[in-house]
Amino acid sequence: MQYYNQNTLIYLNGKFVKATEAGIDLFGQSLHYGYGAFEGLRAYSTHNGTRIFKAEAHFDRLQKSCEAIQLPYTWNNRQLIESTYELLEVNNLRSAYIRPLVYSGSNMHLTSSEEAHIMIAAWEWGPYLGHNLLRVNLSEFERPNPKSFHIEAKISGQYINSILASSDALKKGFDEALLLDQEGYVAQASSENLFIEKDFKIYTPPLGNIFPGITRQTVIDICKQLGFDIIEKKLTIEDIYSADSAFLSGTAAEIIGIQQVDHIIYKEDWENTIGSSIQKKYKNLVLEQENYEVII
Ligand code: PMP
Repeated sequence: MQYYNQNTLIYLNGKFVKATEAGIDLFGQSLHYGYGAFEGLRAYSTHNGTRIFKAEAHFDRLQKSCEAIQLPYTWNNRQLIESTYELLEVNNLRSAYIRPLVYSGSNMHLTSSEEAHIMIAAWEWGPYLGHNLLRVNLSEFERPNPKSFHIEAKISGQYINSILASSDALKKGFDEALLLDQEGYVAQASSENLFIEKDFKIYTPPLGNIFPGITRQTVIDICKQLGFDIIEKKLTIEDIYSADSAFLSGTAAEIIGIQQVDHIIYKEDWENTIGSSIQKKYKNLVLEQENYEVII
């Protein structure tokens, strides 16, 4: 996958510069220790023009992630959002995945940094896990322990856990991994939140041991709006295996149904599930097509 070419511009500390010409400090803590924070947003081409979905929520979370690890955050989020729209324009992107990253300056100590930089890049990217129903497996890797990490923050180094779990799932012939939390409950996927449907109700793990996805909250809001019961509850492996259907949520993956967890294949036709209705509603929401039916 090519994320940029000779002409691609990125936003770097207040300026638009060529991606190929942006230097990188080889003595930065972000590179060595994963001491950085990032976000993932999506811009959609809507009938109202290009619109970044929930831009404020994402930049607020970026700021909170930096504060959680004492990485200086000296930028104004409103200005960053404006610059992100400009970035899309200068790169001729109507719909895109957007990646802001805050990274540290030179410092080889294991102490918090006094210097931070921001870069924002954007590229065209389809749904992260594709369009097909997923085959997922319960990973042998657990999610990071909330007592070891700020798991509510999007900190670069924490993603080694996601890389290990999803690579292992792919090696075993699955599409994505589900990870348990430190108490043995099923927490989420490597970079998506988890929902199951059982007896016409939707369940999802509560905040605490999971990453608080913005899409997860959108799904909860959609459920309430559509009158579906949505219950936040710790989920056991048995809950997952005995569900009627299940799906994942995330900015990159959007809403995507699960066909199979380990050896268990869900019998319910995805099109007949509540998840499928939520998936359609979500697409309408991001495309600002509240009153239209969309074909996924
Ligand atoms: N879990 C993890 C670990 C994530 O990194 C993400 C974001 N990619 C999500 C869940 C979903 O979060 P959001 O809906 O805010 O994109």
